[in-house]
Amino acid sequence: MESAEYEESVLDYLARYAPLVDRGVPAEADAVGPARAVGPGDVREALERCQAALGLESTGVVDDETRAAMSRKRCGIRDPAAVTASVQGLWPQRSLGFGFGDLNSGPVSPDSVRDGVSAALRTWEDVGAGFSFYEVDSEATADIWFEWRPTDDADYDMAGVTIAHADFPPFPPEAAEIVDRPPLPLHLEVGEGWITGADPAGYDLETVVLHELGHCLGFEHTPLVASVMYPSFRRNWIRRELHVTDRDNLRALYSA
Ligand SMILES: [Zn+2]
Ligand SMILES: [Zn+2]
Repeated sequence: MESAEYEESVLDYLARYAPLVDRGVPAEADAVGPARAVGPGDVREALERCQAALGLESTGVVDDETRAAMSRKRCGIRDPAAVTASVQGLWPQRSLGFGFGDLNSGPVSPDSVRDGVSAALRTWEDVGAGFSFYEVDSEATADIWFEWRPTDDADYDMAGVTIAHADFPPFPPEAAEIVDRPPLPLHLEVGEGWITGADPAGYDLETVVLHELGHCLGFEHTPLVASVMYPSFRRNWIRRELHVTDRDNLRALYSA
């Protein structure tokens, strides 16, 4: 199958989000992604892996279901090559400082942001893996730092269907994608329709923050739709509770 047979939007999605596969692609190809950097057969392979990462059947064919999945707004972190839940870095400590940048310019009131974030932090705390969060005023002393950011976010491009991103614990430093030491960014795209609750007007802030905190604790994406680590989000929808596998995975990671 020729790559020309794939729509531009599909190639763009693969370039941004599809699992990178180790097949000798030069490092500089990462900037445009595997879809454009390699031959037609590799585009199909990238599509199949992408479909698996989204919990779809790996057909290598762009059907309506695939097109719909690719049109959904999502987290900007690239999907992992392995379809099992995997992990990047791990925190050496269990008590993490969380802070907020300027909330006054955001589409949701500062109080609503604080409420949504606090609830999401509690949800992860309540797993019983020993994590607790405390609020800090200064970015310099934070482990995770929340900010509203524009589409052309300076630390991580949020073009395409990306509406949020975070980063993995930088222990070791190379485990993180963006930073090499705390604070980890937890950034929401300011221009999206953010709301509190399930509403057709936009995306539930707590739902997305709960997902991004999963990255901050070390989780990659999973194709399991019921997990909070599934990569995409819907309007008029909330996912504020952890799936049993999310809880089990956190306990397993940090039980030592
Ligand atoms: Zn994500
Ligand atoms: Zn950012």
